[in-house]
Amino acid sequence: MRRLSSILMLTVLVSSLFFACENENVAPGDQIPEEVYSRLTQLGFSTDGLTRFEDGYLVENDIYLTDSDLQRMSPGKDIPAVEQYSTDNLVNGPRVIGVYMPTGRKGFSSGEQAGLDEAISRYNAQNLTLTFQRVSSSGSADIVFKRLNRRDEQRGVLGSAGFPTGSGDPYGTINLSGILESTYGLGTAGIATIIAHEMGHCIGFRHTDYFDRSISCGGSPYNEGDGGVGANHIPGTPTGADTSGNGSWMLSCTDGSSRPFTNHDKTALDYLY
Ligand SMILES: [Zn+2]
Repeated sequence: MRRLSSILMLTVLVSSLFFACENENVAPGDQIPEEVYSRLTQLGFSTDGLTRFEDGYLVENDIYLTDSDLQRMSPGKDIPAVEQYSTDNLVNGPRVIGVYMPTGRKGFSSGEQAGLDEAISRYNAQNLTLTFQRVSSSGSADIVFKRLNRRDEQRGVLGSAGFPTGSGDPYGTINLSGILESTYGLGTAGIATIIAHEMGHCIGFRHTDYFDRSISCGGSPYNEGDGGVGANHIPGTPTGADTSGNGSWMLSCTDGSSRPFTNHDKTALDYLY
């Protein structure tokens, strides 16, 4: 997830400078193969801004997919152009999901810790079959927060996560920027929104505006059209992206403001869990 407005503009600017630079010195193996682009499109993801990330790719700003993920996912059903979407794999519930966020110099600041507490409270207030609970070590956690590497923090990535596993477990790692408070000046509620968004991916939520990311990210409309499984419409949620209030917590981009669950978000959460 990235910030919109001035920071996004700055990010875009920095990124384009960076990539312009990188492309001149790119190693042959660093190019993203055409097959990856076509595969992502086939699966219904946007390839706008696609970059390499760890052992795979960063898709739609904050979704981490590896080559094996791309192979595992299969295209099929039509995607309705409506509001809330889930992946095929969901977390088996009822379940308490243990969450670990490290502290200290290589961990997260007190402001980010407070953001996690608020994100957990937002979910738990919905009385879902999934509840989140902090645990004190990574070994006993289902989801572990890790700092993004310095390069990704500096280029403006705010966080990344993946989708639930085929065996019904939440995605196990959230890579989060450690400079949300110090560099971007975000308050607890804004940080909570970013964290809740990444947690949303871990339990199977896709971007509500993945079919047109310009709704939250600005720029030109970008519609993937049909094709791709793992974007299943959640019954009871309306047509069009939910931009009521500050918008759904699962919009692709954030302006750093607080996005507590909207009524449609609550419908979607209730339906899945
Ligand atoms: Zn996202």
